[in-house]
Amino acid sequence: MNTIERFLKYISIPTNSDSKSKKTPSTDAQKVMAELLVNELIEIGIDYIDYDQENCYIYACIKGKQELPKVGFLAHMDTCEDAKGDNINPQIIHNYKGNEIEFPNGLKLSPKDYPDLLKHINKSLIVTDGTTLLGADDKAGIAEIMGMLEYYKNTNTNHGDIYVCFTPDEEIGLGLKNFDKTKFPVDFAFTVDGSTVGEISYENFNAATATITINGFNTHTGYAKNKMVNALLIATKINELLPDETPENTEGYEGFYHLDAIEGNTEKATMKYLIRDFDRKNFEYRKLKLRTIISKINQKYPGCASICISNTYFNMKYYLPSNYNINTVLRAAFKLGINSKIVPARGGTDGADLTYMGIPCPNIGTGGHNFHSVYEYIAIEDMLKAQDLLIGIVREYAKEDILKLNKHI
Ligand SMILES: [Zn+2]
Repeated sequence: MNTIERFLKYISIPTNSDSKSKKTPSTDAQKVMAELLVNELIEIGIDYIDYDQENCYIYACIKGKQELPKVGFLAHMDTCEDAKGDNINPQIIHNYKGNEIEFPNGLKLSPKDYPDLLKHINKSLIVTDGTTLLGADDKAGIAEIMGMLEYYKNTNTNHGDIYVCFTPDEEIGLGLKNFDKTKFPVDFAFTVDGSTVGEISYENFNAATATITINGFNTHTGYAKNKMVNALLIATKINELLPDETPENTEGYEGFYHLDAIEGNTEKATMKYLIRDFDRKNFEYRKLKLRTIISKINQKYPGCASICISNTYFNMKYYLPSNYNINTVLRAAFKLGINSKIVPARGGTDGADLTYMGIPCPNIGTGGHNFHSVYEYIAIEDMLKAQDLLIGIVREYAKEDILKLNKHI
């Protein structure tokens, strides 16, 4: 089976995760996918497979020369619940001409809305029928990893141990909840879960969540003068005291405050803010800024507001080993004629948590676009390029001596 056939087979299995579920994994369908992948790994003839059936993690390895660096790749089996993820009916458009693609339900995938489409002229695009997501996020990553494994299993070439791990429930933030680091003993790893081929992210946001509770005082509205304290109005004042740095006003390396939820009544209100910044100092400053605003509010309305801030994840850049060299990846891309680009990930990745756990783990592109929506698409040529890049990364690491690398760590 080739990589494209694999991809089409994987997306025919509905594996959306479910944020409301209390089960592990959150949906049984992910186990169906995992079992299929285990069987394929056996067919490929992988040296080592460890399937944690209870938690739905697959760890596998092709053994290599022990003196060479051990490289690992991860991809997630679940799809996002934001768009329908079952009965996916992929359409293949050969030799795309840069036109608007109209789906049977009238929705249009247009270069006007998605200018990146114009970078795919003359390629073969796999798109949806307009009613579901495609599942390239992250089944393209899985198919490309499988293709890479098959290549190394059937090619007699020098490499270190190649590990892979397929995880469940990434889309609901639980991708590493039951991850067993001892089953993934690598020197370097990559999540294969990004967009454009050649894009590499080894920086991501520092992230925190702030929950603000405001206690007001309610009275009859007709007799409220100098008595009523309206918790909802105080909530709006808090938001007004923040700078206009919101997701919709920022890009690139700019951080933000995102008012994610607000609810309540005159008596009591709660607000939830997502705080994001690449720079650690600015990140701490943003948290301080919110605390200072709450202090100000409490000066005017004593004891009325409280804030609780918890960190969610950190920028992986700060946890990479001192000798970490992204040039190994850039060199692999260059040799394949792939344009590489380092882009900051404006979100979190499982790789950020892995890096924090001591395994350097940038994210690399699968070729997919418009994730989490009915406009998701991927070009066949890009999937094959992304797979070549995985093969190339292993090849480049095979030229590095782990003993020398370790000296600098
Ligand atoms: Zn993903």
